[in-house]
Amino acid sequence: MASPNIVSSSQSSLSPPPATSIASTNGGYESGEIDWDNLGFKVTKTDYMFIAKSSLDGDFEQGQLIPFGNIELSPSAGILNYGQGLIEGSKAYRREDGGIFVFRPQDGAIRMQIGAERMCMPCPAVDQFVDAVKQTALANKRWIPPADKGTLYIRPLLMGSGAVLGVAPAPEYTFLVYACPVGNYLKGATEALSLYVEEEVHRAVCGGAGGVKSITNYAPVMKAMRNAKRKGFTDVLYLDSVNNKYIEEASSSNIFLIKGKVILTPKASGTILEGITKKSVIDIAHDLGYQVEERSIEVEELITAEEVFCTGTALGVAPVGSVTYKDKRIEYKISSEIVSQQLNTRLVGIQRGTIEDKRNWIVEVK
Ligand SMILES: *Cc1c(COP(=O)(O)O)cnc(C)c1O
Repeated sequence: MASPNIVSSSQSSLSPPPATSIASTNGGYESGEIDWDNLGFKVTKTDYMFIAKSSLDGDFEQGQLIPFGNIELSPSAGILNYGQGLIEGSKAYRREDGGIFVFRPQDGAIRMQIGAERMCMPCPAVDQFVDAVKQTALANKRWIPPADKGTLYIRPLLMGSGAVLGVAPAPEYTFLVYACPVGNYLKGATEALSLYVEEEVHRAVCGGAGGVKSITNYAPVMKAMRNAKRKGFTDVLYLDSVNNKYIEEASSSNIFLIKGKVILTPKASGTILEGITKKSVIDIAHDLGYQVEERSIEVEELITAEEVFCTGTALGVAPVGSVTYKDKRIEYKISSEIVSQQLNTRLVGIQRGTIEDKRNWIVEVK
């Protein structure tokens, strides 16, 4: 009854995509079919998505790939009425030699388990999650951009799909994984983020769900994001809700400051989402000889920082060109020599297989 079913497709599971868009047999894509130069970060209807279900107290069934399409939900589905849902985000990379790899999918699986516990949801096992991510990447292989053009963004979604009227965990859960090709977020070394420090809206509170990738963390900050964008900023930098003076993170990325050989980032203690990119950058910074401090950072410390940058799966390591706090704009130098660019080059090199992956972060899809 509350099960999501594909409603807009006459195709049975795993039937081939329409003849006009069948991938070539060498696993590539037909040239000229997809405009790889104008990908951006938007929804594209790809070929397949993965779906698996579970009861509240059970284990997730094995699941399967089905054609990408709409799902059917009860009007009283837990996710629609009470926001019982979690997202994840991962990327698949196509190498020059055709190999396909995903970055740290196990970390996303574990983060989803922690989030599921917080939101009273059953969760797929780590292996099941990783396998679903791989299957989704492989089934949509023709949508993975060439190495220099972008990546396949993979979005796992866990939701209370069963019907419930009073506030309570839903009786049924759906784990869904879909994927879309996306472009490189910032092009060139001169592009940078401009952040607006928000003093009225808080992203997360102590005891809330800011530390997990709950879907409930995003709609409440859209107004602050819209206001910042209208003023010409790219994103919002949130402050802690208790003192309104310690920096936390941006809407969907973590923040770092650089002072000499020290790299600073706010310590995650339940109100900051612990990013996989953040963890990776901390390890890479150590490799490059930096000292990394995770601690409370007062907004005033932005004035004495030499560099500021944000990290996340969607944007990678992105330099911040300015931060505006109380009508004061602090500017940072942007060039190909800055530390964030070095960190980015290293991270991208590992993700793309041109730099040794000594920590087993990358997982081959096939
Ligand atoms: C997803 C997300 C991040 C970045 O996490 P990654 O694992 O690096 O992609 C940071 N902050 C918020 C609020 C997020 O939702």
